[in-house]
Amino acid sequence: MADNYVYVLDGKAYINLTDKCRNACTFCIRNTGDGVAGTPLWLDNEPASTDVMAAFDALAPFADKEVVFCGYGEPTENLAALKTCAAELKARGYRSRLNTNGLGSLAAGRDISGELTDIDTVSVSLNAGSAQRYYEVTNSAYGLDAFPAVVEFAKACKARGMNTVFTVVDVIGDDEINKCKALCATLGIPLRVRTYIADNYER
Ligand code: SF4
Repeated sequence: MADNYVYVLDGKAYINLTDKCRNACTFCIRNTGDGVAGTPLWLDNEPASTDVMAAFDALAPFADKEVVFCGYGEPTENLAALKTCAAELKARGYRSRLNTNGLGSLAAGRDISGELTDIDTVSVSLNAGSAQRYYEVTNSAYGLDAFPAVVEFAKACKARGMNTVFTVVDVIGDDEINKCKALCATLGIPLRVRTYIADNYER
């Protein structure tokens, strides 16, 4: 079966650059299915930007002019395609959002925020209010180093003027959500509490 680099959900285009991720979150949709809304998203081959834009053009037009770099893995794991696609989409008049685990700079060994400035909104999964709880929830390959790296990545994106938001899923519980809210308040970065989707949008 052909790889799906772009899928459509509620009239919005989502770009699937990779299925790699250095976390293994307890609530990841990859635990409960093989795709989203009936579109399989595991990949045989990671795409180049040209593959992605060809898939994008094959499915366009879209009702929403915002395009989302999202799963099935962590988009910054395919950084070259991410940067090129973001620039191409911007040149075509689209807005873009990156849904990220925030580990891109730690994975690359350098601050990559300056390479992402063609992206309008960076939505960073905070997942928890402390390094220990983050590790328990995400099983990150980076252990306790992951959480501070996520926070630093978000701060760097905000400092570069990108619209930066944190997200958590509601399944982490009210106490943890309140810790996240307190942390976000100190950082001046908004927090969005997302509803956990258990059915991979198979409606
Ligand atoms: S960071 Fe995202 S893609 Fe990676 S395991 Fe967690 S929820 Fe899944």
